[in-house]
Amino acid sequence: MTDVIARLRPLLDRNGIIEDDALMARYLVERRELYQGRTRAVLRPASTAEVAAIMKIAHETGTPIVPQGGNTGLVGGQIPFEDGAELVLSLERLNAIRALDATNNTMTVEAGVTLATIQQKAEDADRLFPLSLASEGTCQIGGNLSTNAGGTAVLRYGNARGLVLGLEVVLADGRIWHGLKGLRNDNTGYDLKHLFMGAEGTLGIITAAVLKLYPRPRAVATGFVAVPDVEAAVALLRLADDMSGGLVSTFELMPRFGLDLCLRHTPGTTDPLTSSSPWYVLVELTSGDSGNLDGTLQSLLERAINLALVSDGAIARSGRQRTDFWRLREDMSDAQRPEGGSIKHDVSVPVSSVAAFIAEASAAVGKRLPGIRPVPFGHIGDGNIHFNLTQPIGMDKAAYLALWDEMSRIVHDIVRRYDGSISAEHGVGRMKRDEIAATKDPVEMELMRTLKRALDPKNILNPGKLVLPGKEALPG
Ligand SMILES: Cc1cc2nc3c(=O)[nH]c(=O)nc-3n(C[C@H](O)[C@H](O)[C@H](O)COP(=O)(O)OP(=O)(O)OC[C@H]3O[C@@H](n4cnc5c(N)ncnc54)[C@H](O)[C@@H]3O)c2cc1C
Repeated sequence: MTDVIARLRPLLDRNGIIEDDALMARYLVERRELYQGRTRAVLRPASTAEVAAIMKIAHETGTPIVPQGGNTGLVGGQIPFEDGAELVLSLERLNAIRALDATNNTMTVEAGVTLATIQQKAEDADRLFPLSLASEGTCQIGGNLSTNAGGTAVLRYGNARGLVLGLEVVLADGRIWHGLKGLRNDNTGYDLKHLFMGAEGTLGIITAAVLKLYPRPRAVATGFVAVPDVEAAVALLRLADDMSGGLVSTFELMPRFGLDLCLRHTPGTTDPLTSSSPWYVLVELTSGDSGNLDGTLQSLLERAINLALVSDGAIARSGRQRTDFWRLREDMSDAQRPEGGSIKHDVSVPVSSVAAFIAEASAAVGKRLPGIRPVPFGHIGDGNIHFNLTQPIGMDKAAYLALWDEMSRIVHDIVRRYDGSISAEHGVGRMKRDEIAATKDPVEMELMRTLKRALDPKNILNPGKLVLPGKEALPG
């Protein structure tokens, strides 16, 4: 390892390599502190050529590399293992916007640009880049594409992989794939970019991407709506889609308990409604023309009240009020922290099964641990539920978190019965690697291993994450 670092040092400038323990610390732990790794050095290349030079040496010496973006991932993919054998490669210095083509509706960006910067640059050009997550100020586009991130606009615009036209990727042996095309039609064989998106750094290092831009919405209407149950929320989604002609861009479910936690723990939040309800929906309509969207939302709510799908609702009358509604949704995860341990699941089921899934899974975990407090919330417009479980009041936090695997088995078994996915948008990383290996279709797993072996024959790209190269390497 000393030898490798000695070979890497001359390739990089003064800011290109960190070896000091205190300075490396922030790259070695993720925000929930579930994974704490070790390394000898954090590499911070400033160009694609430098990434390529690093990978060439890593390949020659068999040195494992962990790519890292904004370090907001929730499945431990960006954190090295505890044995200190891997080097971290941070993309944070590849942070240039290379081009913005307003006519082609594309932006070419380097991997380390934060999502919020990309959104702002698009807005400055009177365009929209629709990917939107609560971590957008910190996460980077390379991380977003590598995890195929979802977020609050999937319903209307699709997830991260659908927002990309081309990629530049450094391969395991240091070769560069120059795939930065801005074409919407290109039928010249395998669509290789999709191999690297959602691959969590196990097949190549994304160094740049051509992103699709969209017309910027001229009108936005946001409602905070009380619904009697999850069935009503799903029925409201269909009604909203029909009545608005497909203008629903956000449809987020929140339980009363989650709202209570926000009101209790997030300073400055208030309940938008005077009456209480077991469930709420944040619904947003957006449109490219400046028509009366508030009127459309008002008519929708009146119709839904008549159909008993909605019991109460408020429409944001100002930007400030819109931000306040959004804050309740975005802080729902953090507001669970002061209540003790939270066992989290990022699952998806067909939208038509969301209500049945939530009811069944809540009952099952409650039967195993009376007093457990489910907080199912999230992007139900695309069937994605963050099925978080807050610990019972008064229970020891460590004893509660020790039940994580058992609770996940209960929840994931139900997900599978509904033909769902145990990772809707956060990826697999280290956390779910063995579970997908044990439960995914065997042919699909073998295809994934074949790809891993073909593109990373020395197993140096984020080894031990997402998929192991061979069946024989599976634990147990
Ligand atoms: C408060 C909060 C809210 C969130 N909300 C959402 C949400 O709504 N939807 C959602 O999908 N996710 C969400 N996430 C999870 C996380 O933000 C996303 O997974 C995000 O896409 C990760 O980006 P990152 O730059 O932080 O990547 P990192 O965490 O640094 O890395 C994630 C994975 O990608 C790999 N990687 C990173 N950069 C590259 C690269 N350039 N080339 C190859 N591999 C790379 C890493 O090795 C790792 O496996 C949330 C996280 C937080 C903390």
